[in-house]
Amino acid sequence: MKYYSTNHQAPLASLQKAVVKGLAEDRGLYMPERINRMPKEFFDNIQDMHFRDIAYNVASAFFGEDVDLDALQELVFDTLPFDCPVVKVKHPIYSLELFHGPTLAFKDVGARFMARLLQYFINSGEKTTVNVLVATSGDTGSAVANGFLGVEGIHVYVLYPKGKVSAIQESQFTTLGNNITAIEVDGVFDDCQALVKSAFMDHELNNHMNLTSANSINVARFLPQAFYYFNAYARMKQKELADELVVCVPSGNFGNICAALFAREMGLPVKRFIAANNANDVFFQYLKTGKYEPKPSKQTIANAMDVGDPSNFARIYDLYGESHERISSLISGATYSDEQIRQTMKQCFEETGYVLDPHGACGYRALQEQLLPGETGVFCETAHPAKFKETVEAVIGTEVAIPARLAAFMQGEKKSIPMSKHFDDFKAFLLAQQQ
Ligand SMILES: *Cc1c(COP(=O)(O)O)cnc(C)c1O
Repeated sequence: MKYYSTNHQAPLASLQKAVVKGLAEDRGLYMPERINRMPKEFFDNIQDMHFRDIAYNVASAFFGEDVDLDALQELVFDTLPFDCPVVKVKHPIYSLELFHGPTLAFKDVGARFMARLLQYFINSGEKTTVNVLVATSGDTGSAVANGFLGVEGIHVYVLYPKGKVSAIQESQFTTLGNNITAIEVDGVFDDCQALVKSAFMDHELNNHMNLTSANSINVARFLPQAFYYFNAYARMKQKELADELVVCVPSGNFGNICAALFAREMGLPVKRFIAANNANDVFFQYLKTGKYEPKPSKQTIANAMDVGDPSNFARIYDLYGESHERISSLISGATYSDEQIRQTMKQCFEETGYVLDPHGACGYRALQEQLLPGETGVFCETAHPAKFKETVEAVIGTEVAIPARLAAFMQGEKKSIPMSKHFDDFKAFLLAQQQ
């Protein structure tokens, strides 16, 4: 299968090139040329299938032409040693818990899958080292570092702002060692991101080493998230509640919801979607006005969604032929202030006992406000509430226990390399690395 750029000014790419490069030459995002539909028998039996078997079938439709099927199965099973349950919060609202991976983040699946696919391509070509640069304000760094940990042929540099990430987040990427190097930048998140962007554009550096990114612009990171939605359908069908399904995705860069939309194009019977946002309302405004106007991001308590110019908007726009009418008839929006997010966490806990994190709270509230009679709603609970412990506890007035997996990271020894926010320093550091 070939991949084209959303800017349509770059040559078609193989899957290997799309994964290794991340972004097309014209700065566009790669899209698969075709989206294969799943056969009817697959949906007839899906309720009896495990998450990982569903995922393997879906992965074959995306990647089966380019990856040996046995290797692909091994890769999918290695990515998904855990389940992804759907939990009733209050009928007809159900929570799709995406936080059962190694760092309790839904990004774990895409990160691990991408790491293993990259490794597959490195092993089948000439031996080189691929260097992954990732800037993080907390969550992405831990998912990527843990997904890539110990994967031969790949070195990961995680850049994070000194003193600006929580202790528990920091421990998840600074204690790993091995092929993971944590770089503690004397600056803010935007400085980290600027260093990474400058590195990708620097010719000397790119001649010296293979550089790639691991955020949701990469097809290997965002597409596997489609697995979640087939699984959600299967679990709802098991409960005989899959007929009028509305899927609500708390969104920041729109990679996750974009994968859900791809699932629908593959035949997944979802009636409609809701993109739930915090105060960063660029997409919400687009749905209303038809105009896409990026803004600087606003800081909120659902900080993994603090995005003012969601990169995967380009993919959604392309998928629906740049038609505002098609996009707005399939997806509705929602935007909530921190105050509304807090109210929702509190109300949901008091009424149902279910503990929402600030991101999932946006999803839950959007379903509460927008579900029509006869519809059943599934929202993504994108983070374990313990990852936002202080915020959640202050709102619900009850302690949130830290799962053992998360607490284990706190035992390790922190190792990081201090770095200024000046590109010359970062470049000199990278040039000095052995290739
Ligand atoms: C990354 C993230 C999101 C947003 O996902 P996108 O794919 O960027 O839209 C939502 N919630 C949490 C907890 C996240 O980490």
